[in-house]
Amino acid sequence: MNKFYADSMLGKLARFLRFLGYDTLYRSEESVEKMLETSIEDNRIVLSKSKDIVNKCNKLSIKSFFMSANEIEYQLRVLHNVLHLEMSTPPLNTRCSMCNNELIEKNKQEIINLIPKRTASHHDRFWQCSACGKIYWIGSHWKDIEKTITSAKVG
Ligand SMILES: [Zn+2]
Repeated sequence: MNKFYADSMLGKLARFLRFLGYDTLYRSEESVEKMLETSIEDNRIVLSKSKDIVNKCNKLSIKSFFMSANEIEYQLRVLHNVLHLEMSTPPLNTRCSMCNNELIEKNKQEIINLIPKRTASHHDRFWQCSACGKIYWIGSHWKDIEKTITSAKVG
């Protein structure tokens, strides 16, 4: 399975790749050198809006993509077309959008004290991040995510 390292301008793309189940790091405070080093070590594909960084990747034989578009649909479409990226609808393999760790499906009773009452009464399936503890459910925002992924696949 492809692993990614998204450059600092591509936070939204990083979150979407995590939703799709791809192990994706996001560069916020790390230096470019550190990103490249980690990408070599982990065999990650670098995604960047900087031609400079893409050139550096080429020199170091790191697989990389120059992301010219700003729209998330188009960015995903490029990866879908070029890498034949599998884009199954979440939450099948979803990773935590905050910290990139794996989610574990939880029994409602285990986490009922950690979620709003209204949410608990409207939903039955919950997932929790194994690292940061964030809880996920298929709320209204999930529909928007599905819509974006579907339209990315159509093009
Ligand atoms: Zn997390």
